[in-house]
Amino acid sequence: MQCPKCKSIPLHPTKLEQGLSAMGCSACSGAIVSLLYYRDWVERTAPVAASCDHTSVEEANGIKDSKESSAEEINDSRSAMACPKCKKLMIKYKISGDINNRLDLCRSCDEAWLDGGEWELLKSLELNRKMPSVFTEEWQRKIRKQATEDLRDQRLLKSVSESELAEAKKIRTWLKDHPNKQEILFFINHE
Ligand SMILES: [Zn+2]
Ligand SMILES: [Zn+2]
Repeated sequence: MQCPKCKSIPLHPTKLEQGLSAMGCSACSGAIVSLLYYRDWVERTAPVAASCDHTSVEEANGIKDSKESSAEEINDSRSAMACPKCKKLMIKYKISGDINNRLDLCRSCDEAWLDGGEWELLKSLELNRKMPSVFTEEWQRKIRKQATEDLRDQRLLKSVSESELAEAKKIRTWLKDHPNKQEILFFINHE
């Protein structure tokens, strides 16, 4: 097996963590890991006291915000790569809304490619034990929804201040499921 990124460099057995085998590239530090092995590793190394078993996209973003490490420093393969095992194109999955890094997955082999530094990135986001959630449609849909909301915020922020945006959001939340929403909107629009 050769590195899907460096092409001519052979992958060699390595470990992402104690007990988690992968095939890594010595040139780019990328690694391919079997999700079968991965799930087994997660089960075998269950934390003694699991305080929370589901990090949401929102939380992942929040955690990222509070970290000093910049995701931009970490390598991310921009172009599609062929799976080193079966040569089919791997699919890219965004990790979170404000992080550009994407994980590559071969659906046929159920193996994920992590660029150099991406395992550490997952750790910093507390996603290292929940990596397969990133590959779900639900996770990706939340990221897209969040991106749309951020875009709307940015658009309104061209006309109003941060505090006015917060106020507008408060009103929107209040109106959202109000049984007389239309009447209230009519009232607001007609002084
Ligand atoms: Zn490589
Ligand atoms: Zn494959």
